[in-house]
Amino acid sequence: MRVTQMVHRPKVLVSDFDGTMTAVDFYRLTIDRLLPAGAETHWTDYRTGKKTHFQALAAIYTGIRASEATVLEMLQEMHLEPRLSELLQQLNAANWDLVIVSAGCGWYIDRLLSQVGVSVPVFTNPGRFVEGLGLLMREPIESPYHHPETGIDKAAVVRDLVEAGKTVAFAGDGYPDTPAARLVPPSLRFAKDALAESLQASGEGWIAFSRWAEVVEHLLKNT
Ligand SMILES: [Mg+2]
Repeated sequence: MRVTQMVHRPKVLVSDFDGTMTAVDFYRLTIDRLLPAGAETHWTDYRTGKKTHFQALAAIYTGIRASEATVLEMLQEMHLEPRLSELLQQLNAANWDLVIVSAGCGWYIDRLLSQVGVSVPVFTNPGRFVEGLGLLMREPIESPYHHPETGIDKAAVVRDLVEAGKTVAFAGDGYPDTPAARLVPPSLRFAKDALAESLQASGEGWIAFSRWAEVVEHLLKNT
């Protein structure tokens, strides 16, 4: 389904998940907590172009040999924005919808959102956990936003909303967020870490944030 069929308010905040709405990325916790030494190589292979972003994450996820219960427990250490539910209500009241775009995996995103009772459109890679095989992530080839590099084309989601006449804000923290972030005006472009570096390198403006709550507070105050 296209994003334009899933939102009805005139303004839409499109947000990355890992590292943007959470303090820590799932892949980072997985490497640091669950995988044997050397698993970092998969990420290095992505950064040097030997693997796509999707292939690197899939390789990290399938290295998991911990039980599903252990991995579910670890999700708390991603530290999802604790005020998410309340902030979403405030956004909605101010005519903003929230859409999540992630090159990570729906398996943990869905669980974290449902734990706090939040239901919003999420465009990401589907996955299932099989003990002994790890987290099996697949490319969403049925999605109108499928992209072979990251699984989901975040920029295509933003483009659809812009073309439908929506006011679109974007928040992110990673390299794969760059094309999507470039499609919104600097006054609605929120960035940190690798995304901020990448925008800096191309001389583009952005609003800095450290916690996702700051993005929402800025939008509520200024739009
Ligand atoms: Mg991220």
